[in-house]
Amino acid sequence: MEYINLLKPSLPTPEEMEKLAERFSREEKMAELLEVKDLQVNAGEKEILHGVSLRVNKGETHVIMGPNGAGKSTLGHALMGNPTYTVTGGSIIFEGKDIVEESATERAKDGLFLSFQNPIEVPGISLSNYIRNSLDQRTGKRVRLWDFRKELEKKMKLLSMDNSYADRDLNVGFSGGEKKKAEILQLLMLNPSLAILDETDSGLDVDAVRTVSEGVRAFQEEKEGALLIITHSTRILDALHVDHTHILVDGRIVRTGGAELVEEINRGGFEKYMA
Ligand code: ADP
Ligand code: MG
Repeated sequence: MEYINLLKPSLPTPEEMEKLAERFSREEKMAELLEVKDLQVNAGEKEILHGVSLRVNKGETHVIMGPNGAGKSTLGHALMGNPTYTVTGGSIIFEGKDIVEESATERAKDGLFLSFQNPIEVPGISLSNYIRNSLDQRTGKRVRLWDFRKELEKKMKLLSMDNSYADRDLNVGFSGGEKKKAEILQLLMLNPSLAILDETDSGLDVDAVRTVSEGVRAFQEEKEGALLIITHSTRILDALHVDHTHILVDGRIVRTGGAELVEEINRGGFEKYMA
């Protein structure tokens, strides 16, 4: 009994326990960036995603892998608000707010970014102007041209892009690798809180993958940005820190694990997850 009495002062009271629990749950909520709950998505009449759930905390890197046609791009576009894809059920909570009804522009303002699997060519607007306009929209203010150009050139250097690309029409006549670098340049300039990269490494040669990967790492480390990296190869991941990996097959996440899952897929492919 005496022994208990001696111990007791150091034990938290029930009230203190409650306060602690409250604090932890608050801190967890603060860390949470994106929560996708039971998301169902249609492309046209067809349901592509059949209830996907996923939670990304600030600064975390998640990888989504899966065979062709699994719905990876659909997930990326649905998160970004591409009107081609209709959310028919579930929710997308970004920084505590349900964004399902928001337009893609509003989501970009919120801090979401999607790099396209197939970047589009836009004649008549230069890469530089495109990024500056996007930045204005995202921040709601016009950055000074001189500051903007300086920052842009710094980032282009990091990505081994020649300065002349800034004044060329967006993606017009760019090689596959240059288009992907242009996407990463946008990422580094726009500085979103969550970047979704859709197959940013596909179709690139070894050097281009390394450069793109360095750009992504700069985003991870300097900006502490969160990432959802969609890929079916894994070369881009070689030099990147990965927190969680999800395997998407037939519109469902069939397995979630850590970085080791990437290695496992590298060795065995998706076969064992397919029906
Ligand atoms: P992944 O990126 O994993 O290869 P996608 O998300 O591109 O897969 O496609 C998943 C399925 O959804 C495929 O069967 C594809 O044909 C279909 N799909 C994707 N986009 C559309 C669309 N805009 N209209 C109709 N079907 C689509
Ligand atoms: Mg795809």
